[in-house]
Amino acid sequence: MVETSRLTNLMIRQQMVGRWFFGFIQTFFAILPAGVYLMAGVVLHAGLKGGVSVGTLVSFTTFQSALFFPIGQLLNIQVELQGALALFDRIFQYLDLPIEIADRPGAITIPAAAIKGQIGFENVTFSYEPGITPAVQGVTFGADPGQLVALVGPSGAGKSTLTYLMARLYDVDQGRITLDGHDLRDLTQATLRAAIAVVTQETFIFHSTIRENLLVGRPNATEEELIAAGKAAAIHDRIMELPGGYDTVGGERGYRLSGGEKQRVALARAILKNPRVLILDEATSALDSHSERAIQDAISQLMEGRTTIAIAHRLSTILAADLIVMLDHGHIVERGTHTQLMAQGGAYSRLYLEQFARQPLEAVS
Ligand code: ATP
Repeated sequence: MVETSRLTNLMIRQQMVGRWFFGFIQTFFAILPAGVYLMAGVVLHAGLKGGVSVGTLVSFTTFQSALFFPIGQLLNIQVELQGALALFDRIFQYLDLPIEIADRPGAITIPAAAIKGQIGFENVTFSYEPGITPAVQGVTFGADPGQLVALVGPSGAGKSTLTYLMARLYDVDQGRITLDGHDLRDLTQATLRAAIAVVTQETFIFHSTIRENLLVGRPNATEEELIAAGKAAAIHDRIMELPGGYDTVGGERGYRLSGGEKQRVALARAILKNPRVLILDEATSALDSHSERAIQDAISQLMEGRTTIAIAHRLSTILAADLIVMLDHGHIVERGTHTQLMAQGGAYSRLYLEQFARQPLEAVS
């Protein structure tokens, strides 16, 4: 609220800057021809020697207003220029920020095809800022190639943080995360980007055609592969209904896709990319049962044969998981399969009854 009123005041101030000055200049420009006519009238009336002719007078005032208009515009530019310079300052401050995640000298490159997809979290601790309580603490678990790990736990438990760390959006403070036995920090970022696809609830659609948005996953994919991915993600038919099909421009200023459609675009991107490791943040938003089913089928297909770390919100995911990791306040509090954890009758079984048990059985595939 305080910030909003500050913004309002600043915007009013921005609009008012120099307005008094412009008001004065413009009034001056508007009344100047009248002054010129008055003076010329006096001169003509007095019949002074060397006085102006009516023709000179009219052309003078006409040219005068033609000259004043650009001068007025030039004066206006000053205010816009100041605003733009301030903006440039902010942009350069941002661009000059040091890059926190960079390739180590001697970092190794592994071709995407050679990655098996074995993942290890070894005693991982991380906090977003030094001195604050770590978002995850002493987390250890692993996934063999092709396995599904479901992360569950209350809000703020650290599930998203673990997925960010896996994608190396941040580096761990203590411990290490490995891919095929290599510490992520010893691999080039290109290796990691090629090996991992991330499908989250917030998908960014670039201001470009749907085709280009999908090809982000694999720029050299053929038209057939593109359409196959669209179909597998249950978005092909919807795209064909759009005015330009795959050439429809999406993004902020283009065709606005719905939340569910964006999510399916993200799935199609991931299917095209065909990564060894999939990081999935399952949607919590309710979709109609048809779209829900379509997305669920696409996700199940996408997970097949890949190592998947999923922030699980669906019954089908936790039931299919090889390992469920239950987090609370950044710590692993329980781990095991659904059957094992239910038998323990601990925190997971309570969470299951609260969050998952009420989901319809047909969601299980
Ligand atoms: P949810 O289910 O609500 O998404 P989560 O289990 O994914 O929660 P995280 O988003 O990983 O939880 O958050 C773990 C902790 O880290 C929380 O206490 C949160 O406030 C904190 N946190 C998350 N992101 C940041 C950030 N960018 N800067 C500082 N603290 C953060």
